[in-house]
Amino acid sequence: MLAIINRLGEHTPDKKLIEGYTEEYLRLVDVIQGEKIQGTISVKPSQVGLALESSLFKDLILKIVHKAEEAGMFLWIDMENSPYTDATIDAYRGLLTDHKSVGMCLQANMRRTETDVRDLLPRGGKIRIVKGAYPENPEIVYNRRSEVDANYLRVLNTLFEQAEFFAVATHDGKLINAAKNMSRDHKANFEFQLLKGIRDDLKPGLVDEGFRVSEYIPYGPEWYNYSKRRLRERKRNEMIRR
Ligand SMILES: Cc1cc2nc3c(=O)[nH]c(=O)nc-3n(C[C@H](O)[C@H](O)[C@H](O)COP(=O)(O)OP(=O)(O)OC[C@H]3O[C@@H](n4cnc5c(N)ncnc54)[C@H](O)[C@@H]3O)c2cc1C
Repeated sequence: MLAIINRLGEHTPDKKLIEGYTEEYLRLVDVIQGEKIQGTISVKPSQVGLALESSLFKDLILKIVHKAEEAGMFLWIDMENSPYTDATIDAYRGLLTDHKSVGMCLQANMRRTETDVRDLLPRGGKIRIVKGAYPENPEIVYNRRSEVDANYLRVLNTLFEQAEFFAVATHDGKLINAAKNMSRDHKANFEFQLLKGIRDDLKPGLVDEGFRVSEYIPYGPEWYNYSKRRLRERKRNEMIRR
């Protein structure tokens, strides 16, 4: 399995903190390379400038992209809640003109996502498709789980048909099986991505079947928001911890 490492922390308008997170990502690239770890990093836009100024985010993400490129490393950009969606996609579009080894997350719960996928793929976009972790205004999202899953499948289909490289990020066995089935009919370049500590039972099997699997590993003291999202998805997680 490969690793995708994320330093927890988000929504920070504090310039000093933003600089600190950026420096930490630059160091992480060195550490991953130095320790010969198979993997990369994933960055939250509002952690490295987007909560203050979109131009600052563009400058800092470019700095991190350059560092990753020097190390021969692919880089992922997370997608956060909807106030950040336009600016994140805009920055990603800009990056794609000169930087091909960068991917970005899109959320199947968002009604706009199919359109975003169709816009980004011809530009060389590399998409990680997820269900979406943030509570949103009901008007801009699919509200029923069945609708989110159906949209996930539609996007997955498009990715299998058109994408150069993409990531299927879910713990949902139905969607994982659907991706496996689609992979039989398409010679697609993709990987499964799962969070560290979730569905550990599934991961070795996928590797044994020959699929590329990355584990997303968040770390750092800012655990609260991340854990809240995981608890919202699955209340039983709270019981497991006790
Ligand atoms: C690698 C990765 C990167 C991500 N990046 C982003 C991002 O950038 N932006 C964003 O909005 N979201 C991101 N997410 C989160 C995503 O949007 C979902 O909130 C999260 O993955 C839960 O949805 P699910 O697809 O696993 O399906 P769900 O419908 O939540 O779950 C399906 C099944 O998976 C199992 N399962 C799910 N969650 C758990 C759990 N916590 N513990 C144990 N079993 C569980 C259960 O069997 C459940 O029935 C990411 C997820 C992954 C895996």
